[in-house]
Amino acid sequence: MNLGPMLPLMTHCPMCKALYAEEAVKLVREQAHVKLYHSTCRTCKHGLFYYVVQSEGGISAVGLITDACGSDAIRLAESPTITADECINTHRIISKQSKDLCQNLLDIRGKLA
Ligand SMILES: [Zn+2]
Repeated sequence: MNLGPMLPLMTHCPMCKALYAEEAVKLVREQAHVKLYHSTCRTCKHGLFYYVVQSEGGISAVGLITDACGSDAIRLAESPTITADECINTHRIISKQSKDLCQNLLDIRGKLA
């Protein structure tokens, strides 16, 4: 797979500075001048999403540390986009039912411990 230009985010883990294995860097999604990559560090196990944007002015990249693995990255990239209305409705539900939500989370934690 041709990953295009190699940027520091694509070669070294930003958390522990370990060198990524070549197979750890995956192109998840590609559109016009934007590419989404995911990599997993074999040393510290952190995942990283990063967007690479190519424009006439050059190449820029933004990375985000994640606990998502490579299969999560593909699943998320193929999922429908969350709308602003869905975000607002979720916020309202959480705000109105925060006591129940917290209690449910505490109950789940008790079952996992
Ligand atoms: Zn690492």
